[in-house]
Amino acid sequence: MEWEVVIGLEIHTQLATRSKIFSGASTAYGAEPNTQACAVDLGLPGVLPVLNREVVRMAALFGLAIHARVAPRSVFARKNYFYPDLPKGYQISQLDLPIVEAGYLDIDLDEQTTKRIGITRAHLEEDAGKSLHEDFHGQTGIDLNRAGTPLLEIVSEPDMRSAREAVAYMRKIHELVRYLGICDGNMQEGSFRCDANVSIRPQGQQELGTRTELKNINSFRFVERAINFEVERQIDVIEGGGRVIQETRLYDADLDETRPMRSKEEANDYRYFPDPDLLPVEIDAAFIEAVRATMPELPDAKRDRFTQEYGLSRQDAAALTSSRELADFFEQTVAAAGGEGKLAANWIMGELSGLLNKEGRDISASPVTPQQLGGMLQRISDGTISGKIAKQVFEAMYNGEGDADSVIEKKGLKQITDSGAIEQMIRDVLEANPKQVEQYRGGQEKLFGFFVGQVMKATQGKANPAEVNKLLKQLLGG
Ligand code: ADP
Ligand code: MG
Repeated sequence: MEWEVVIGLEIHTQLATRSKIFSGASTAYGAEPNTQACAVDLGLPGVLPVLNREVVRMAALFGLAIHARVAPRSVFARKNYFYPDLPKGYQISQLDLPIVEAGYLDIDLDEQTTKRIGITRAHLEEDAGKSLHEDFHGQTGIDLNRAGTPLLEIVSEPDMRSAREAVAYMRKIHELVRYLGICDGNMQEGSFRCDANVSIRPQGQQELGTRTELKNINSFRFVERAINFEVERQIDVIEGGGRVIQETRLYDADLDETRPMRSKEEANDYRYFPDPDLLPVEIDAAFIEAVRATMPELPDAKRDRFTQEYGLSRQDAAALTSSRELADFFEQTVAAAGGEGKLAANWIMGELSGLLNKEGRDISASPVTPQQLGGMLQRISDGTISGKIAKQVFEAMYNGEGDADSVIEKKGLKQITDSGAIEQMIRDVLEANPKQVEQYRGGQEKLFGFFVGQVMKATQGKANPAEVNKLLKQLLGG
């Protein structure tokens, strides 16, 4: 039997506001436990939530970016359940009337093919606190700093057909929310987490199979592994004559397996009802237009522009537009170099990224500025240095030895283009190697490389390679 895999993702993005969704407490990460939870976050009797306007702006911006409907009217509801890190006994979320509905995002399957993934909805909600199981022997600590942090939960259609597609979609959402500046995307700190819903069905069947939900996976690699494990498990269950049970499962990264956590609850288990403490959120057309006016250039548009404007391949353009910071670095470099898009792309994705990756640094922490890199590219294109010598210049700049011109000057790296000088050096080399000259003239043309090497050695790599080749041919010719 051929099985088809069906996946839908629920992604929780923490919105990058300074204060919480319904209170003025700070959302800054890493504070001492319970120093950033105010009376509202603690759910003390008599307090009232007040909606943070900024979260509405961020949700609307996201909705516009995914071509969705931004609802003129959305409603907060109480989702009731008991858990120690939820002092109110309910989470404020949105159920029937979410703020964003019916959008989509196109993911790349390969260089040529894209696939459209439907986004059912995105709704606003508050995060819960955190239970700390490790810090106190035999006891659990509760940190309510995270309680009330704004989340935008982005729910996809069950449109993905493999773990790879799911990861591509997740990466695309990650890239988008960072471009929009609405989420910092930090997965270690829990700002971007994902639940994966997975089912299988016989190839060709219309009806969806029973799904399981894999909870709270916080890395791209784990999403892929968790889904692949779960697909194999479901196939084994069904082919062994059993049935998949609808349930919530936990992915254990250490054991690389999923295991049951709880049976799946239905919406009515939560006794949802509109929160009487909060008015419906009403957005007018002027607000939406004001938000639309602030829309930055989005990754897909930027990638297409990079291919056209700088003649880059789609793959290179996609890599350079993977974050706004990297794309800006590239464009500033090109501006400083006065063109040379392809050369700039090669240096940024090659030499620079290589050194940054080795030190685990981000492009924003690059010790070489776009102006410095652009200045060096100019010296390559005007022939002052060769591409090979440029590596030396680049490393010196990276180590803080100044910009390209001063490095070239200080280290005497200027390319020798004076053909008279080069000719003299070639004559010296030929004179010093009479046997090889004879062999070459006798037909051993492979030896040409040997002479090039000798001349380059004599000039410490500074002779203009094209000029060396030309003159060597002439002089060796007799
Ligand atoms: P719930 O309300 O239980 O969270 P939803 O219907 O809102 O369930 O769906 C949650 C997620 O599960 C969505 O991303 C949806 O695309 C996905 N999903 C629903 N049914 C299936 C299925 N049979 N197989 C895989 N994913 C599914
Ligand atoms: Mg859900």
